[in-house]
Amino acid sequence: MARNIKYLAVHCTATSQTTSISAIQSYWQKQLGWKMPGYHFIIKPDGELVQLLPIEQVSNGVQGFNSQIINISYIGGVDQNNKPVDNRTPAQKATLLKKLKELKVKYPLAKIQGHRDFPNVHKACPSFDAIKEYKDV
Ligand SMILES: [Zn+2]
Repeated sequence: MARNIKYLAVHCTATSQTTSISAIQSYWQKQLGWKMPGYHFIIKPDGELVQLLPIEQVSNGVQGFNSQIINISYIGGVDQNNKPVDNRTPAQKATLLKKLKELKVKYPLAKIQGHRDFPNVHKACPSFDAIKEYKDV
Protein backbone atom coordinates (compact mmCIF):
# COMPACT_ATOMS: atom_id res chain seq x y z
CA MET A 1 0.00 0.00 0.00
CA ALA A 2 1.26 3.47 -0.85
CA ARG A 3 2.31 5.58 2.11
CA ASN A 4 1.64 9.29 2.49
CA ILE A 5 5.22 10.57 2.46
CA LYS A 6 5.52 13.98 4.14
CA TYR A 7 9.25 14.08 4.85
CA LEU A 8 12.53 12.98 3.39
CA ALA A 9 14.61 12.68 6.56
CA VAL A 10 18.38 12.95 6.35
CA HIS A 11 20.55 11.11 8.90
CA CYS A 12 24.09 10.20 9.73
CA THR A 13 24.92 6.82 11.25
CA ALA A 14 26.89 8.54 14.07
CA THR A 15 29.59 5.92 13.58
CA SER A 16 33.07 6.07 12.16
CA GLN A 17 33.15 6.16 8.37
CA THR A 18 34.76 2.73 8.27
CA THR A 19 31.79 1.05 9.99
CA SER A 20 30.22 -1.60 7.76
CA ILE A 21 26.53 -1.70 6.91
CA SER A 22 26.31 -5.22 8.33
CA ALA A 23 27.72 -4.00 11.67
CA ILE A 24 25.12 -1.20 11.74
CA GLN A 25 22.31 -3.62 10.94
CA SER A 26 23.53 -6.03 13.57
CA TYR A 27 23.48 -3.20 16.15
CA TRP A 28 19.86 -2.38 15.27
CA GLN A 29 18.76 -5.98 15.53
CA LYS A 30 20.78 -7.21 18.51
CA GLN A 31 21.32 -4.10 20.65
CA LEU A 32 18.14 -2.17 19.93
CA GLY A 33 15.87 -5.12 19.09
CA TRP A 34 14.53 -3.44 15.96
CA LYS A 35 12.67 -5.56 13.42
CA MET A 36 13.06 -2.94 10.70
CA PRO A 37 16.22 -1.14 9.60
CA GLY A 38 16.79 2.46 10.69
CA TYR A 39 16.86 3.79 7.15
CA HIS A 40 15.57 2.99 3.68
CA PHE A 41 18.86 4.08 2.11
CA ILE A 42 22.41 4.27 3.39
CA ILE A 43 25.36 5.84 1.57
CA LYS A 44 28.88 4.48 1.90
CA PRO A 45 31.97 6.75 1.90
CA ASP A 46 32.66 5.79 -1.73
CA GLY A 47 29.21 7.13 -2.65
CA GLU A 48 27.54 3.76 -3.18
CA LEU A 49 23.86 3.88 -2.29
CA VAL A 50 22.49 0.75 -0.63
CA GLN A 51 18.76 0.23 -0.23
CA LEU A 52 17.90 -1.53 3.04
CA LEU A 53 14.11 -1.51 2.77
CA PRO A 54 11.42 -0.94 0.09
CA ILE A 55 9.92 2.54 0.32
CA GLU A 56 6.46 1.03 0.87
CA GLN A 57 7.65 -0.26 4.24
CA VAL A 58 8.30 1.80 7.38
CA SER A 59 11.87 2.18 8.64
CA ASN A 60 13.01 3.26 12.09
CA GLY A 61 14.61 6.69 11.66
CA VAL A 62 12.57 9.28 13.59
CA GLN A 63 10.48 8.21 16.53
CA GLY A 64 6.81 9.14 16.08
CA PHE A 65 7.09 10.12 12.40
CA ASN A 66 8.27 7.02 10.60
CA SER A 67 4.99 6.20 8.86
CA GLN A 68 5.33 9.51 6.94
CA ILE A 69 9.05 9.37 6.23
CA ILE A 70 11.64 8.06 3.85
CA ASN A 71 14.87 7.84 5.86
CA ILE A 72 18.23 8.27 4.17
CA SER A 73 21.62 8.26 5.89
CA TYR A 74 25.31 8.59 5.20
CA ILE A 75 27.88 6.52 7.09
CA GLY A 76 29.77 8.86 9.42
CA GLY A 77 28.79 12.08 11.16
CA VAL A 78 31.02 11.93 14.25
CA ASP A 79 34.72 12.46 14.88
CA GLN A 80 36.99 10.10 16.82
CA ASN A 81 35.62 11.51 20.10
CA ASN A 82 32.04 10.85 19.01
CA LYS A 83 31.43 14.58 18.56
CA PRO A 84 29.14 15.59 15.68
CA VAL A 85 31.04 16.51 12.53
CA ASP A 86 29.99 16.83 8.92
CA ASN A 87 32.52 14.45 7.42
CA ARG A 88 30.56 13.51 4.32
CA THR A 89 32.88 12.63 1.48
CA PRO A 90 32.36 14.43 -1.83
CA ALA A 91 31.00 11.13 -3.18
CA GLN A 92 28.49 10.86 -0.32
CA LYS A 93 27.38 14.46 -0.85
CA ALA A 94 26.85 13.81 -4.55
CA THR A 95 24.86 10.61 -3.99
CA LEU A 96 22.76 12.18 -1.25
CA LEU A 97 21.85 15.12 -3.46
CA LYS A 98 21.08 12.88 -6.43
CA LYS A 99 18.84 10.57 -4.41
CA LEU A 100 17.00 13.45 -2.72
CA LYS A 101 16.35 15.00 -6.14
CA GLU A 102 14.96 11.68 -7.42
CA LEU A 103 12.75 11.25 -4.37
CA LYS A 104 11.56 14.85 -4.60
CA VAL A 105 10.36 14.21 -8.16
CA LYS A 106 8.39 11.24 -6.91
CA TYR A 107 7.19 12.97 -3.72
CA PRO A 108 7.05 16.70 -4.61
CA LEU A 109 5.23 17.67 -1.41
CA ALA A 110 7.70 15.95 0.90
CA LYS A 111 9.84 18.26 3.00
CA ILE A 112 13.57 17.58 3.18
CA GLN A 113 14.96 17.99 6.68
CA GLY A 114 17.46 16.50 9.07
CA HIS A 115 16.63 14.19 11.94
CA ARG A 116 17.44 17.05 14.33
CA ASP A 117 14.79 19.26 12.69
CA PHE A 118 11.91 17.10 13.94
CA PRO A 119 10.22 18.16 17.19
CA ASN A 120 11.73 17.05 20.49
CA VAL A 121 14.84 15.55 18.93
CA HIS A 122 17.93 16.10 21.06
CA LYS A 123 20.53 14.85 18.62
CA ALA A 124 22.84 16.56 16.16
CA CYS A 125 21.98 14.06 13.42
CA PRO A 126 22.82 14.47 10.52
CA SER A 127 25.57 16.87 11.75
CA PHE A 128 24.71 19.55 9.15
CA ASP A 129 21.80 21.84 8.25
CA ALA A 130 19.83 19.75 5.75
CA ILE A 131 16.98 22.29 5.48
CA LYS A 132 19.41 24.98 4.35
CA GLU A 133 21.53 22.76 2.13
CA TYR A 134 18.57 21.26 0.25
CA LYS A 135 16.20 24.24 0.24
CA ASP A 136 16.29 24.43 -3.57
CA VAL A 137 15.91 20.70 -4.25
ZN1 LIG B 1 19.21 10.27 12.72
